[in-house]
Amino acid sequence: MRSKPSILRLILGDQLNEKHSWFKQPNDDVIYVMMEVRQETDYTRHHIQKIAAFFSAMRSFAERLKSLGHQVIYLRLDDPDNRQSITENIQYLIEQKNFSQFEYLLPDEFRLDAQLRALVQTLPIRSQPVDSEHFLTERQDLADFFHGKKRYLMESFYRWMRKQHDILMDHNNPVGGKWNFDQKNRQAYDHKAPIPSPLLFENDVSEIIHGIQNEGVRTLGEIQPHQLIWSVTRDQALELLDHFVNTVLPAFGTYQDAMLSSNWHLFHSRLSFALNCKLIDPLEVIQAAVEAWEAQDPPIEIQQIEGFVRQILGWREYMRGIYWALMPKLESSNFFAHTGDLPSFYWTGSTAMNCMHKAITQSLQYAYAHHIQRLMITGNFALLAGIDPNAVDDWYLGIYIDAIQWVELPNTRAMSQFSDGGQVATKPYVSSARYIHAMSDYCENCIYDWKKRHGDGSCPFNSLYWDFFERHRGLLQKNPRVGMMYRTWDRMDRSQRKKILAQAHAYQNNLNAL
Ligand SMILES: Cc1cc2nc3c(=O)[nH]c(=O)nc-3n(C[C@H](O)[C@H](O)[C@H](O)COP(=O)(O)OP(=O)(O)OC[C@H]3O[C@@H](n4cnc5c(N)ncnc54)[C@H](O)[C@@H]3O)c2cc1C
Ligand code: SF4
Repeated sequence: MRSKPSILRLILGDQLNEKHSWFKQPNDDVIYVMMEVRQETDYTRHHIQKIAAFFSAMRSFAERLKSLGHQVIYLRLDDPDNRQSITENIQYLIEQKNFSQFEYLLPDEFRLDAQLRALVQTLPIRSQPVDSEHFLTERQDLADFFHGKKRYLMESFYRWMRKQHDILMDHNNPVGGKWNFDQKNRQAYDHKAPIPSPLLFENDVSEIIHGIQNEGVRTLGEIQPHQLIWSVTRDQALELLDHFVNTVLPAFGTYQDAMLSSNWHLFHSRLSFALNCKLIDPLEVIQAAVEAWEAQDPPIEIQQIEGFVRQILGWREYMRGIYWALMPKLESSNFFAHTGDLPSFYWTGSTAMNCMHKAITQSLQYAYAHHIQRLMITGNFALLAGIDPNAVDDWYLGIYIDAIQWVELPNTRAMSQFSDGGQVATKPYVSSARYIHAMSDYCENCIYDWKKRHGDGSCPFNSLYWDFFERHRGLLQKNPRVGMMYRTWDRMDRSQRKKILAQAHAYQNNLNAL
């Protein structure tokens, strides 16, 4: 006779880690619960592909667990028993089914962490949080590593991680003799390496879309309901990883900062969704890449593999540590006291600025833009234009397939908007059109002139760039990494400066018309 289950275990939508020790063997004492809730669909306005991908991945994961013999309660969005809140659903299940213990995997978001900690205080039964067994670091590791330091330098954390995990190390030295190959990497696309066709899946999510629409969930962006391109199962994620390491990795580092009008993915892995919902884990991604690098003939250059390892072992773990070190203050930080509204074209892509048009329309179409499009196009513009970081955050949190607050917030607030005042980035990531022209072909087909700083057809990035530095002189002039900028500006002819600032103000007053 089966015993009555006594332990209720919660699995959140971004905790789809089949390798977790919870799932080693089925246990009659345990019931897992997964839920699609309005609490999660509504905390920001999400891209339709993002909700569909999460629900599809969750449903597949629940089926997978059942096929392995586990007991799973799955609450769909339109289930009549669904209270639409994680707390209320858990309370209801505990009342109904008389569990004697509640366990949950540690959430990665501050909001959910606080919610679950508050919930367990109210429960009449024992409860226990359990590690999600995904990351290479604990929540507190980065804060401990930088204890007493004013700045949290990624580079030193990354080198420590390489040594800790013995990745690309030759005893105590970095393989290839250097920690950083940035000089070789980060080139504009020169058409020397053909861009591999992307591996796109064709997941049918039409039933999910129907449910989302029936329930009146507000979303943004486009979707092909029969062809969701993102990996929603572990098998698909592994296939994508395999495709990446064998066909894309050989040119990853070289072109990781390049942008091209005619292509939305270039040499990027598009693994972030699978990683962030834990279908695959960072160590297996790194190991697969390193193994491919070791085995590939002709050899993959060291700068390609180092560039990729840096993203996962360095940036991803670093951002997670920053999140836990700086939350909850980070969420409301606004170093420049920016208050502007997000221009309407962020929601439509309707702008004559070709770089913005391309980056935004691609984001609406695929729920994806690569790092430099996020940092140096849409983020750059928002910072130069003085947009309220809350609005910028909301946009990034909604629009991208991989957007979960623990990774979105430090990237947006700290890296892109410099809202923390420089604990993470040593200087604001802003640029004039010169950088965009150098790294992309966007300017070639733009009605604005990337060389002009003022006057008819002058590129808005140019005047807004100088206006940004002038506006924030008091906050930035002493920063050694931007001092040079002020010297260049101050040396400029006075009448030039006046014209540039007047042009910036004209654009600033009419952002929606750009
Ligand atoms: C303003 C802004 C917002 C961002 N928001 C998110 C977000 O919500 N979710 C998210 O996963 N990433 C975010 N990033 C980081 C980065 O843009 C994405 O991880 C990357 O574009 C995902 O595409 P990919 O998988 O093809 O990455 P690749 O270029 O192939 O890189 C491989 C992997 O490295 C990791 N990685 C690379 N850069 C970063 C980084 N800066 N921080 C954390 N991980 C990194 C990702 O897991 C990524 O899948 C943001 C960056 C900026 C500038
Ligand atoms: S000219 Fe300016 S607005 Fe146009 S694509 Fe280049 S940087 Fe963007």
